[in-house]
Amino acid sequence: MSKVKAIKGGEFVIRDTAPSDVFIPEEWTEEQNMIASMCQDFLNQEITPNLDRIDSMEEGLMPAILEKAGELGLLGLSVPEDLGGMGVDFKTSLLATEVLGTGYSFSVAYGAHTGIGTLPVLYYGSEEQKKKYVPKLANGEWKAAYCLTEPSSGSDANSGKTKAELSEDGKHYIINGQKMWITNGGFANLFTVFAKIDDDKNLTAFLVEADSEGISLNAEEKKMGIKGSSTRQVFFNNVKVPVENMLSERENGFKIALNILNIGRIKLAAGVLGGAKSAITESINYANEREQFGRPISKYGAIRHKIAEQVIKSFVVESATYRAGQNIDDAIEAFVESGMSKSEATLKGIEQFAPECAILKVAGSECLDFVVDEAVQIHGGMGYSAESSVERAYRDARINRIFEGTNEINRMLTVDMILRRAMKGELDLMGPAQAVAGELMSIPDFGDTEEGVFANEYKALKGFKKVILMVAGSAVQKLMQTLSKEQEVLMNIADVAIWTYLAESTLLRVDKLIGMRGEEACKHEIAIVKTYFYDVADKINKAGKDAINSFAEGDEAKMMMMGLKRFTKTEAFNAKEARQMIATRVIESNRYDF
Ligand SMILES: Cc1cc2nc3c(=O)[nH]c(=O)nc-3n(C[C@H](O)[C@H](O)[C@H](O)COP(=O)(O)OP(=O)(O)OC[C@H]3O[C@@H](n4cnc5c(N)ncnc54)[C@H](O)[C@@H]3O)c2cc1C
Repeated sequence: MSKVKAIKGGEFVIRDTAPSDVFIPEEWTEEQNMIASMCQDFLNQEITPNLDRIDSMEEGLMPAILEKAGELGLLGLSVPEDLGGMGVDFKTSLLATEVLGTGYSFSVAYGAHTGIGTLPVLYYGSEEQKKKYVPKLANGEWKAAYCLTEPSSGSDANSGKTKAELSEDGKHYIINGQKMWITNGGFANLFTVFAKIDDDKNLTAFLVEADSEGISLNAEEKKMGIKGSSTRQVFFNNVKVPVENMLSERENGFKIALNILNIGRIKLAAGVLGGAKSAITESINYANEREQFGRPISKYGAIRHKIAEQVIKSFVVESATYRAGQNIDDAIEAFVESGMSKSEATLKGIEQFAPECAILKVAGSECLDFVVDEAVQIHGGMGYSAESSVERAYRDARINRIFEGTNEINRMLTVDMILRRAMKGELDLMGPAQAVAGELMSIPDFGDTEEGVFANEYKALKGFKKVILMVAGSAVQKLMQTLSKEQEVLMNIADVAIWTYLAESTLLRVDKLIGMRGEEACKHEIAIVKTYFYDVADKINKAGKDAINSFAEGDEAKMMMMGLKRFTKTEAFNAKEARQMIATRVIESNRYDF
């Protein structure tokens, strides 16, 4: 992919991308597919047969499974070779996360260990710290956990009360405090702990070994789902941590916490994608087997509609996740070429696409919730039985909208990050926003310039981006400093940005695919794109309307409403037939086969 054209994070709002410039999942190489199969084999052998044992928290089982994963190299995929890992690129690590994302509680333990557990020391550790801890984490000998949340400090993560005080001899920090909801807490050997030194404004991160004196744990939390994932409170009572175990610099902890969460967000999207695909296959299998009124329920339109929607939503999230994954890899490569170390470049690359990571976290977790909810519905009473795997999937899915930053926080972050970049002059939103405002006052140009199978969709995409610019631009002008407090408006803008990013990513994917395989071979994918655009145009219209009505009135509101109508106009389209076609394909294959 050419560096000249490299798109910046958040820039999708104002810049078009060519299909040739996106990575699509149909381009996985043989080597990447081999890594995916290795993960799948591991799941089939170690996880699927043991789901009940895992969920009953059988003593020692989860750490033993993590050790096996470590022996196979699955814990060190993102770790460079000189530290005992495989050093795969970012999007390949997303692929592995997707496959392992079907592992219910295991995928949470895996994600916490390899993500928020290992990455702080990998990316922010000194050479000595990395040499001491990373190889043991990569091979599974040690397990890791991340201690940020406290009873009174959740979304407001920088407000933690845990304290670190330098000892009189200057050799240790003494940590006192309480952390809550710590995944892998019950068996982790290494905690990354965030605490405040004296009266610092910001947190500092420390690497704390779990067998240090003064650490104690509460009993396992009793949870709605992911019952096999260890979640504990961790208490620090005068815990002595050597000064050399401070991670990075004093007060850099909040930044570390946020950057690590960014990575976690896009990885969460990849993981839930695996879970969604698997729940779709379960739904299709059941719908094909179960007969009522003399026919398999997969013959009924109401059920076919649900299956098609499950497929559309998942395909869309997949398109956006790997598009962003490649953008991140490209950014990392460019930073490395400019002379940065790999760790620094990786952090910068991911930070660059932080708005997309937040978008994907929200979109992925909400897609999974939709898919598992319909999976239960398709299973009828069986879906409500603890004997069925979709019952577990339904309960386990729910956490994804809460951790790694709640979806409300991530929606607000999406808008906040994009606007901040505009204020700093990194993204030229003002020029395009003014152009849209000017367009509202001029006579509309109905000349259609787009051609081909996606003429309507490319035109619609331009309109969706104009909605973001019109609503956000006008909200910034009208509400100024108070915009950050107008959360309903922020939610509306975030939703429009999320749908636009997903719509664009899917359109570019399928357009590229048509170039590779021809239109006829892509008819189902084309149906997915068209149905998605047709649906989100109305949703964007509604979100835009709600926002405009809340802060504009009179002629100004009228003018914006007219613009909104134009920007979200849809052509007549038979969505029922398109969904039927999508459903027929997967029902015939008896699995999610895109
Ligand atoms: C199973 C599980 C595992 C976890 N694992 C870990 C872990 O390994 N390490 C770790 O450090 N943490 C972990 N967490 C904690 C998790 O990250 C937090 O639960 C999450 O960040 C939300 O914080 P909270 O629970 O305090 O909710 P709160 O912050 O109290 O939020 C409650 C509600 O208020 C909303 N809200 C909060 N602030 C605002 C605002 N400014 N504007 C609008 N709405 C707002 C939220 O969106 C939410 O809907 C885990 C949690 C669970 C349940």
